[in-house]
Amino acid sequence: EQIEIRQFIKEIVQTLSTSVKKKNIQLTLPSTEKETFLEGDKDRLNQIIINLVSNAVNYSYDYGFVEIKVKAKNNNIYISVSDNGVGIPEESLSRIFERFYRVDKARSRHSGGTGLGLAIVKHLVESHHGRIKVESIENKGTTMTVILPRQMHP
Ligand code: ATP
Ligand code: MG
Repeated sequence: EQIEIRQFIKEIVQTLSTSVKKKNIQLTLPSTEKETFLEGDKDRLNQIIINLVSNAVNYSYDYGFVEIKVKAKNNNIYISVSDNGVGIPEESLSRIFERFYRVDKARSRHSGGTGLGLAIVKHLVESHHGRIKVESIENKGTTMTVILPRQMHP
């Protein structure tokens, strides 16, 4: 189905407002002044976005910044989620998409995750014929970018 991704993201993020408020995170959403359409499955896209935004919030400090951007280029849609939280050490970057992998079990124990989120996200993105990339600097922050084809069968 065709999804207007800007409004879609806005609605998903509203379901996370409790954790966003609890940590006083300043959230910036893509502008809904224009429309960006993408062919995809709403349930899968919902899971992808929830997981990435939840991670950005969970691995941020109180009063942190989380920014979600949408960009269309050529036949692709780029969705990026950036935070200025704890970041990921370089030696862990290649492993975070593995099932059950968590960077620092002691540090993140209280957040109660299982380490499955990003493995699922990667699987869902690839089932959409897309890819995901990560840029992160420890103690500075993280940007996760999902690149999806605008149409499944162009
Ligand atoms: P869950 O299964 O509940 O999502 P999780 O968040 O620990 O558990 P993943 O979402 O797969 O698992 O993430 C794997 C690990 O990657 C996390 O434990 C965390 O160490 C690191 N990570 C993921 N996103 C971020 C981020 N935005 N900033 C810093 N570290 C991150
Ligand atoms: Mg997670």
